[in-house]
Amino acid sequence: MRIIVAGGDGFCGWPTALYLSEKGHDVSIIDNGVRRKIDNELHSNSLTPIASLEERVAKWEELTGKHITVYDGDLVHYDFLKEILRKEKPDAFVHFAEQRSAPYSMIDREHAVYTQENNVTGTLNVLFGIKEVVPDCHLIKLGTLGEYGTPNIPIEEGYIEIKHKGRKDTLPFPKQPGSFYHLSKVHDSHNIMFACKIWGIRATDLNQGIVYGLETEETQLDPVLTNRLDYDGVFGTALNRFIIQSTVGYDLTVYGKGGQTRGFLNIKDTVRCIEIAAENPADFGEFRVFNQFTEQFSVADLAEKVQNVAKEEGFETKIANLENPRVELEEHFYQAENTKLKDLGLEPHLLTEDVIRDVLRTVIKHKDRVIEKNILPSVKWK
Ligand code: NAD
Repeated sequence: MRIIVAGGDGFCGWPTALYLSEKGHDVSIIDNGVRRKIDNELHSNSLTPIASLEERVAKWEELTGKHITVYDGDLVHYDFLKEILRKEKPDAFVHFAEQRSAPYSMIDREHAVYTQENNVTGTLNVLFGIKEVVPDCHLIKLGTLGEYGTPNIPIEEGYIEIKHKGRKDTLPFPKQPGSFYHLSKVHDSHNIMFACKIWGIRATDLNQGIVYGLETEETQLDPVLTNRLDYDGVFGTALNRFIIQSTVGYDLTVYGKGGQTRGFLNIKDTVRCIEIAAENPADFGEFRVFNQFTEQFSVADLAEKVQNVAKEEGFETKIANLENPRVELEEHFYQAENTKLKDLGLEPHLLTEDVIRDVLRTVIKHKDRVIEKNILPSVKWK
């Protein structure tokens, strides 16, 4: 298949581009490099040193003979996007290219506006581009489990059957997002659903859980292919952040009581889920929703797991319950469905001690790169 990976320089997009290329697909990447610019803005960095995108794809071609075309540009620029769609004529458009940090979107008005303009306009442009240039193309869009919030009922995959005043219907599952970033994803989902309905295009919304891990088989082939690893209070996600904290002698910073429960998955499953979605496209006019995660944990569970493995590796670590910078429930019911991807063949890589140990050992190699003042949360919701 001809596949565009938008956001292919990022944490999820880069390993996905390599994985799809390895599987024999004709892959091209669109990325405007904004994630690297945000590192400069925040005086932060990836824990792992990452090569430029040009160096990355050149090394991939040198090692495997497989070519990945790179387009350096912004989805918000419609003429640029249309030109690429005309050139590439993709069968699938994998859309990772958004501002993905909840804290970043909560810094101030400018960052909230940037997040929503970038994400909502970019996705609208992709929808119009598919309609006008490549109407057969299957949109595979990264949403987030965070769109649903934490309702006191089980979370279904996209839709719920409701009986009301003697009548019955299947309706979109209610959305209760917890940040301006998560809201941008909900706005995207609504726009995509509407476009499928009125134009008959086909789309899969992957409501992804929090991704942990670092490398895939492909990124491990050479240090130039290494994936980025975020650990700061703005972009670092729970498990990866705890592992890094444990190696530099920091307390594992659990926000509030730590009962916040979320869905998680290994980066190795992210890349496979995209392949599954691409190989099993939605029907024309269908807005299909999968919950893309494999296990659920509370933040306190994760901190304990990391603490245990770190201890075995010689790092004594304390768990610190910080005042929660976010506004969220700290103890709640959580049960999300995740059968659709498994039914299509996903075989989960579960969170074992070995998986934590692997990331931890990689982190140790680069721990001199940690900028300690970036570890603690600096953005408050209120
Ligand atoms: P990332 O920030 O590492 O990667 C996003 C990439 O998109 C970056 O390389 C950035 O430069 C690029 N980009 C952003 N806006 C762009 C634009 N307008 N035009 C072109 N390129 C643009 O993020 P990630 O962790 O890889 O996440 C990828 C997607 O998966 C996001 O949509 C995110 O919301 C979703 N997601 C991620 C996680 C996670 O745990 N990482 C969890 C759930 C959902």
